Amino acid sequence: MTAPPLLELQGLVVRYGAVTAVRGLDLQVRSGELVALLGANGAGKSTTLRAISSLVPVVGGRVLWQGVERTGCRTETTVRLGIGHCPEGRRVLARQSVATNLELGAWLRRDRAGIAADLERCYGLFPRLAERRRQLAGNLSGGEQQMLAIARALMGRPSLLLLDEPSLGLAPKLVAEVMAALAALHQEGLSMLLVEQNATAALEIADRGVVLESGSISLEGTADALLADAGLRASYLGSG
Ligand code: ATP
Repeated sequence: MTAPPLLELQGLVVRYGAVTAVRGLDLQVRSGELVALLGANGAGKSTTLRAISSLVPVVGGRVLWQGVERTGCRTETTVRLGIGHCPEGRRVLARQSVATNLELGAWLRRDRAGIAADLERCYGLFPRLAERRRQLAGNLSGGEQQMLAIARALMGRPSLLLLDEPSLGLAPKLVAEVMAALAALHQEGLSMLLVEQNATAALEIADRGVVLESGSISLEGTADALLADAGLRASYLGSG
């Protein structure tokens, strides 16, 4: 028997008042998979991630984690289950050091040796953070703060990492560094759901892609098929 997907959304519906942000979304992330969630502004990508982390109420459909329904569980429960969320806009603690920000990412853990090992692992993945470990997070560049936000989420030892626009506002060189780090984590077997406006960068490291339009799927397929899709290129990939 095949194992159930790590995460499965069945007919997910999320509303903000009269606005339906996600309408009947079916989506799966299997263990070890990197799925890119693409689409224009306002398509419902961030809302989907927020619903998975129980940061917004789900009004229809179900959220299953390893085959068990978890719809509407507490946010803390989603963290305990192994869902790490790296939100849009980074939200690092500006007046705390890089090291403290990372330690706070391990707030639910008690395994000191494991935490110390993961700290070193994060510094290995993002050498810029290692060089700046004593600096205040607020003094880092935008790209470095993005790396810190990803590393902080990793300190919770997630089985699934939700990433909301990690390339937003970054210079191309830093986008490449962030994407290379995500590709390395994928190689290590970490499962990820990656929301990106930069569809090309996301599909280049993803296994599959799902394109949202007005809260439902307009297109989905393997990353290679989507990268080769002429219509998608014209709409989202920004190149001919
Ligand atoms: P973006 O890249 O702009 O964040 P997105 O695909 O992530 O786009 P969402 O942020 O999920 O889209 O927004 C989906 C819809 O829900 C949009 O119509 C948006 O205006 C609306 N929306 C999002 N957050 C709220 C909120 N807190 N209150 C009311 N409406 C919201």
